[in-house]
Amino acid sequence: MILNAGYEPLKVVNWQKAMILWLQNKVDVLEYHSVQVRSATKAFPLPSVLRLRKYVRPNFSSVTVKLSRQNLFIRDNHTCQYCGERFPEKLLTIDHVLPVSKGGQHVWTNVVAACGPCNNKKGDLSTEQADMPLRKKPIQPKWLPSKEFSYTHHKTCPRTWEPYLVHVRKSR
Ligand SMILES: [Zn+2]
Repeated sequence: MILNAGYEPLKVVNWQKAMILWLQNKVDVLEYHSVQVRSATKAFPLPSVLRLRKYVRPNFSSVTVKLSRQNLFIRDNHTCQYCGERFPEKLLTIDHVLPVSKGGQHVWTNVVAACGPCNNKKGDLSTEQADMPLRKKPIQPKWLPSKEFSYTHHKTCPRTWEPYLVHVRKSR
């Protein structure tokens, strides 16, 4: 896993790529796996958590984050934007803040994650009519941490990653 210079998890790379970055002195290794890789003459411990020496702006200005179910739930931290509870992906629905029937569009600024009961309760009403204020104003995200760091993947992450993933939760 690669962290930005400010310790924000950026992405997961395979071990070959990790070794290249390490050998190019682009990263510091913060954690190692217990296994080693061997070259003809040397053995290296396999890096597990790497931190970039230079801060990279997660700037995807030329790329817009695709509005998909999965990306939306990552943006909203798998949290229903009405009741504030966290849910696994399969229990979440996409709610149109201004309902489609009232001219609401399917765009980042008009969709939020909602649990089934909240979505049903709100039905075809606007947030004002339903008296269900949003926890957060929906925004168009400039970038998203990769899906490997999202809620449903935490269980399968190596233990050495755990302290760094706390940062993902806090920063959202
Ligand atoms: Zn809810």
